[in-house]
Amino acid sequence: MVHFVGAGPGAPDLITLRGAALLESADQVIYAGSLVNPALLERCRADCRILNSAVMTLEEVIEAIRAAESQGQTTVRLHTGDPSVYGAIREQMDRLDEWGIPYDVTPGVSSFCGAAAALQAEYTLPGISQTLILTRMEGRTPVPEREQISRLAQHGSSMAVFLSAGMLTELQEELQKGAYTADTPAALVYKASWPEEKTISCTVGTLAESAQRHGIHRTALVLVGDFLSGSRERSRLYDPAFTTGYRKGTDET
Ligand code: SAH
Repeated sequence: MVHFVGAGPGAPDLITLRGAALLESADQVIYAGSLVNPALLERCRADCRILNSAVMTLEEVIEAIRAAESQGQTTVRLHTGDPSVYGAIREQMDRLDEWGIPYDVTPGVSSFCGAAAALQAEYTLPGISQTLILTRMEGRTPVPEREQISRLAQHGSSMAVFLSAGMLTELQEELQKGAYTADTPAALVYKASWPEEKTISCTVGTLAESAQRHGIHRTALVLVGDFLSGSRERSRLYDPAFTTGYRKGTDET
């Protein structure tokens, strides 16, 4: 059996209770060494086989899983953040299906949640934005034409941009082809929830310059949108006048 587990954004106590229990009982752990905090591996049994997938191909990962399966052992495949976001899990599942190897998934705290926590921000502010776009710049992995940043930027919604900290000059240009301006608030969050976490508040027009000044070129999320300047309107949910399924408001006679 294979358990895909989300490790969370970095801090070892941000894994879920279920994920931690699976790590503690695994015979083999294959972890994404480029981003998973190695401190999490302290939970593993002393006799657990630990492999770093950063130096492995997909074929080697599947081979290691098959070897464990043939001895009736369990593998935890530990991915950073939540496995469903840029985790390359589906291609592994397709191969496991071919081999008839069963698997399940335990979600994790994605870095876009860790980054909002670091900034004490809320992506969905009434009157500002009720939509969060998770995306990336095109790198060696192509992005479909209809999802180019310049097109997504037309919404002016809250945006979290993954995998793009090394392309900020291009990113800030693309963002300004849409509804954002050079003055739209932006933030860089480097290694959210790690001891070396850094949060840098800037604007769309100063993203590249701010990253350079702070020596940030990887493992960072770029957040963009007016949500970063705080709320102007209160929510309906907690408004005394507003009736909900749980509370009678003064709007109901
Ligand atoms: N599955 C992961 C994303 C993996 S893609 C998740 O849910 O978070 C790798 C990218 O995620 C990095 O380039 C960076 O943009 C972002 N990232 C991952 N961990 C991060 C962290 N602790 N702080 C800031 N960004 C992070």
